[in-house]
Amino acid sequence: MQAPSVVSAKELCLTYQANDAPVRALSDVNLDVRKGDFVSFIGPSGCGKTTFLRVIADLEKSTSGEILINGMTPEEARKARAYGYVFQAPALYPWRTIENNIALPLEIMGYSSADRTRRIAEALDLVSLSGFEKKFPWQLSGGMQQRASIARALAFDADLLLMDEPFGALDEIVRDHLNEELLKLWARTNKTICFVTHSIPEAVYLSTKIVVMSPRPGRVTDVIDSPLPAERPLDIRDTPEFLEIAHRVREGLRTGHSHEV
Ligand code: ADP
Ligand code: MG
Repeated sequence: MQAPSVVSAKELCLTYQANDAPVRALSDVNLDVRKGDFVSFIGPSGCGKTTFLRVIADLEKSTSGEILINGMTPEEARKARAYGYVFQAPALYPWRTIENNIALPLEIMGYSSADRTRRIAEALDLVSLSGFEKKFPWQLSGGMQQRASIARALAFDADLLLMDEPFGALDEIVRDHLNEELLKLWARTNKTICFVTHSIPEAVYLSTKIVVMSPRPGRVTDVIDSPLPAERPLDIRDTPEFLEIAHRVREGLRTGHSHEV
């Protein structure tokens, strides 16, 4: 039996009404994300990856087509706290400690003080930041800051995690380490993850499904179901299976580019 659908998009289109001319950001996107999937979205800058996450999160309204999150409209899903969102930059408040940064959305949502304390401790443990509660963001490295922002998104324990190039600004060694940690976290928590990246190795290493997108207007040019095993040491990236998928992603990106005018 197939796992239940978490994100289902049908003929999804979104056109921004900019001042000068309309911008078609998404065009006829069809996609099914199932419970427990780790889905990466890869494509050139400006192809609508962030827009797609923002539609899921109800931060942007589609122009036509249909999108359902756990069978609900994005608005219903947002009200049901269906997802956590990790932004491209950590976006932590410099005047709040790490624990108080994580507490902020929980305060807004009306969680009790005891509940907040428990959730903060659990979330920090999941990203290996226990002991850094009282630090300020500027006392942490870039990688640790991004882990703190992941903890913030994990704190309300939504089943769906939306991550927009969370490791894009980090150096390769830190990124490798966080990739490994994220896979472990995903396996432990059984969450569904939608992950945006520019990096082919990152997409192939992390994902059960890779969605290759074309330049504007964003269309899906290929969806690759990864044959790689769930257990993935970093050196899996040197195996022929890995390189074969990476090659297919590269081909998909190239095909998309040939449509560009
Ligand atoms: P990506 O995340 O893949 O780089 P985005 O989803 O951010 O791409 O943007 C897709 C396209 O939509 C880009 O051409 C971008 O300039 C345009 N765009 C994004 N947000 C807006 C907006 N609020 N108004 C007008 N155009 C926008
Ligand atoms: Mg983006």
